[in-house]
Amino acid sequence: MHDEPAQGTLAVHAGEARQKAGDAIADAIFCTSTYTFENSQAILEFLDGKNPREEYGRYGNPNERVVERKLAALDGGEAALVFASGMAAIVTLLMAKLNAGDEIVFFDECYHRSREFCVKHLSRFGVTTRQVKTGNYEALASAITPATKMLVSESPTNPHLSVVDLERFVAVGRSAKVETLIDATLATPYNLRPLRAGVDYVLHSATKYLGGHNDLLAGVVVGSEEKLAPVRQLRGILGTITAPHVAYLLQRGLKTFALRMEQHNRNGLALAQFLAGHPKVTKVYYPGVPAHPYFHLAKETMRGFGGLLTFEIRGDAQTAMRVVDAVKIPRIGPSLGGVESLIEQPLLMSYWNYTPEQRAAIGIADTLIRVSAGIEDTDDLLADFRQALEHA
Ligand SMILES: *Cc1c(COP(=O)(O)O)cnc(C)c1O
Repeated sequence: MHDEPAQGTLAVHAGEARQKAGDAIADAIFCTSTYTFENSQAILEFLDGKNPREEYGRYGNPNERVVERKLAALDGGEAALVFASGMAAIVTLLMAKLNAGDEIVFFDECYHRSREFCVKHLSRFGVTTRQVKTGNYEALASAITPATKMLVSESPTNPHLSVVDLERFVAVGRSAKVETLIDATLATPYNLRPLRAGVDYVLHSATKYLGGHNDLLAGVVVGSEEKLAPVRQLRGILGTITAPHVAYLLQRGLKTFALRMEQHNRNGLALAQFLAGHPKVTKVYYPGVPAHPYFHLAKETMRGFGGLLTFEIRGDAQTAMRVVDAVKIPRIGPSLGGVESLIEQPLLMSYWNYTPEQRAAIGIADTLIRVSAGIEDTDDLLADFRQALEHA
């Protein structure tokens, strides 16, 4: 692929004009809700499609268009649509694509709010949701009926970091003429390019690694222009768009995307390897360690394994709380993919309302700890976890 610039170059330059407003090197932020026409003739030309331009903020803004071109280039897609959040992206995409009577099939380790939207809300509009065990391609194929319109998975998944075999996933969809969607938020286009495997739509919560600085919410869907056209139309009605300031922040964050991902990958792998060899750690979920069930698939299909990892320690919920409270660099909080490392205990942060039986059924141990490795110095993070585990 020598004809195509690499991710580091695309992240800095793709989608941007060479010469910009005011001759500035940075894009101006278009702080406006509406765009004016010089005269009635200009409106007629716009309506005839002779003069593509902005009209009203709900339909698009120049900052969002720049970042959309950049994100399409990074994922190797024809077009990208940016949204107010990752969830706004999923909701708008599914509402544009599904009709009453349609069915959708999920791998069950997908982001819980995406599944909740389908199970609790799309059901009110007559859409049926089926869920099958992640990685079971026979069950996936069996769940398809003549009414099925889309297969959805995340790869890798959270918090168990299961990796989907995209070729098999796509083959199941294609043989039944059903479209496929991969939420690649944890992988990012740096580590995984699902469109190359033939996936129809790739989705990211840009809140995570793409924005990368824990300072914005955004989402993106990448795919073909034709397939995204109805999604763009619906976004213009719903108003699930990104504001110009946020789009600019996302563009700014993306400049260092490749550099950040290198360090996230390095820190994630170093921490996972350190934890895997620690006597107080009983299990590590990270596709870059050989004990992980998807190690070989991940090694074959991913460039790096990202900054998110989870692990279980010997002891009980209190032991895990002591370790979480003892780390000095990562802050305690949800989310992932930012330059600042984060740590949390899924039991408290996401699954407190579940019964112990429900947690056991989905593999959430009381001692599970989730780490989003930031871009701090690797040795400092390792030293921090070494001292924190002395409290276990
Ligand atoms: C965070 C996240 C989402 C939702 O994105 P928001 O930007 O928070 O709306 C969807 N999928 C995955 C895998 C996520 O991590």
